[in-house]
Amino acid sequence: MHAEIIAVGSELVSGQKLDTNSQWLSLKLGDLGIPTHFHTTLGDDLDENIEAFRVAKSRAGLVIVTGGLGPTQDDLTREALARSADQALVEDAQALAAIEAFFARRNRTMTPRNRVQALQPEGAEPIANPVGTAPGIWMKTGGTIFACLPGVPSEMKVMFDGEVVPRLKAANLVGRVIVHRVINLFGKGESDIEAEALELTARGRLPEVGITASDATISFRISSQGANEEEARLGCEATADLIYDRFGDLIVGEGSEDVAHGLVSRLRSLGLTLAVAESCTGGLVAERLTRIPGVSDVFQGGVVSYANTVKIASLGVPADLLERFGAVSPQVAEAMARGVQERLRADLGISITGIAGPGGGSPEKPVGLVYIGLATRGGVQSRKLELGPEQPREIIRSRAAKHAMNFARLHLSR
Ligand code: ATP
Ligand code: MG
Repeated sequence: MHAEIIAVGSELVSGQKLDTNSQWLSLKLGDLGIPTHFHTTLGDDLDENIEAFRVAKSRAGLVIVTGGLGPTQDDLTREALARSADQALVEDAQALAAIEAFFARRNRTMTPRNRVQALQPEGAEPIANPVGTAPGIWMKTGGTIFACLPGVPSEMKVMFDGEVVPRLKAANLVGRVIVHRVINLFGKGESDIEAEALELTARGRLPEVGITASDATISFRISSQGANEEEARLGCEATADLIYDRFGDLIVGEGSEDVAHGLVSRLRSLGLTLAVAESCTGGLVAERLTRIPGVSDVFQGGVVSYANTVKIASLGVPADLLERFGAVSPQVAEAMARGVQERLRADLGISITGIAGPGGGSPEKPVGLVYIGLATRGGVQSRKLELGPEQPREIIRSRAAKHAMNFARLHLSR
């Protein structure tokens, strides 16, 4: 049993939009033990759609179609599916009721055009759409199951998870379940980490472990199979424990969690608050922290002290420090951290001052030179980072922000 995914939309074949639905669906199907053998992308043309559906029917046991279910003239999936299966299009009472209910809930009047969305090939069943007007279509024709979903990615995903997966399970089409567990590390290079994990990432090891890097965060991805989700999840556990034992403090979180989450969870568990003073990162640390819902319990706020006058006026950095050592110096980083910690009444203050480039570097202070500071009630310290000089501005800023958060995170784990 393998699958084919058909993405319908002229905007997809013309290059205006990227077909992201097929990628998402293939990953999901893979996790359900159903391999995808074909991706077909085509425009809003009836004959081509009929042809594509016939081809898919001849070579795949499961076909997922996205797009072409809207109420407009160019939405042809209903008709193409009916024709490719030699069935008539009939109005489905259940689908019509669902569309009427959708409009009633929003106090909108249903247009006659929306009524076409209740059409289904004879013998098909509608797939409920909890978030939009277009119901999907579930239909068995020959030996092939067709599941047609809207093109809007958010609707497609909700309907796949909530409606298609249970039907696939009920039809006994789901093979062994695959579960992934992603563990994220920060503070060491990919090759160093890989060198310490050679036996984990070796080919043929079970469960499989892959290693990837994104924005200097290194991720281990454990993939485990099982007869059901519980069993697959259990299969990841021993390997995850091994990674935790071996990499300890380098681990910042799991899944989508990065350094900011690691720092916030330490602050929360210790009941401490944080304030930040940023120069070359211009608020990046504050932005990363405030992406985390509910972070006001530990994050007080920040000062973007880009100009020296602001470092003096808003953070109380002594003017003579700036004159003697320059804005990019350990002395100023420490004064910024102490200043923001005191003025924003936080337990911890972190600071960043550096040269993000591409201009502004000198032999003594090249592009990529960054100092990060950390002030606590017990003292103040700083660290020098050399992130350039060949790296682009955005990389230097992003790395500086992450290293500053990591500096505080590691301090709190001791
Ligand atoms: P409906 O969603 O009503 O079934 P449709 O998907 O054809 O019909 P469109 O208006 O063509 O509706 O597309 C809705 C939005 O979804 C558009 O922004 C479109 O670019 C996007 N979209 C459609 N298919 C895909 C896809 N395969 N990948 C990513 N985005 C898509
Ligand atoms: Mg479309």
